[in-house]
Amino acid sequence: MPSTKSSHSRTMATSLVRRAGVRMTRQRRAVLETILASHDHPTAAIIFDRTKAHMPGISLATVYNCLETLSETGIINHLNFDNGPSRFCPNLEPHVHLLDDTNNRVLDIQLKPGLRPEDVFELPEGTCVTRMDACLHGNIPV
Ligand SMILES: [Zn+2]
Repeated sequence: MPSTKSSHSRTMATSLVRRAGVRMTRQRRAVLETILASHDHPTAAIIFDRTKAHMPGISLATVYNCLETLSETGIINHLNFDNGPSRFCPNLEPHVHLLDDTNNRVLDIQLKPGLRPEDVFELPEGTCVTRMDACLHGNIPV
């Protein structure tokens, strides 16, 4: 019997895919469930390893195809930082990313409560921010 957490993840995966109008396949579900359970912004290779643990027959090419579809439909975020491999983020709330230069971690960072991007950045007058896609670098204490 599935745990409550994986059952929730499965329900959320199905709902996200249906809302995007994408056909749910076993492979897409498995890849999406892996990403929804990952809060470390994994690379495709890591997602492949994690997905393979519960779907041994899945190929790396299939994982790449699933990631492309899920990214194109806006179900997940496809991230590129500097020259490193692509990473994937399931957090669809407005946020920026903080790259830990010491430990190679990527964290989601929200604006402080009550602030909007317009309150933080010197934007041209009249600008309406529709999406945040920024990357901060730093050293995060362990
Ligand atoms: Zn993120």
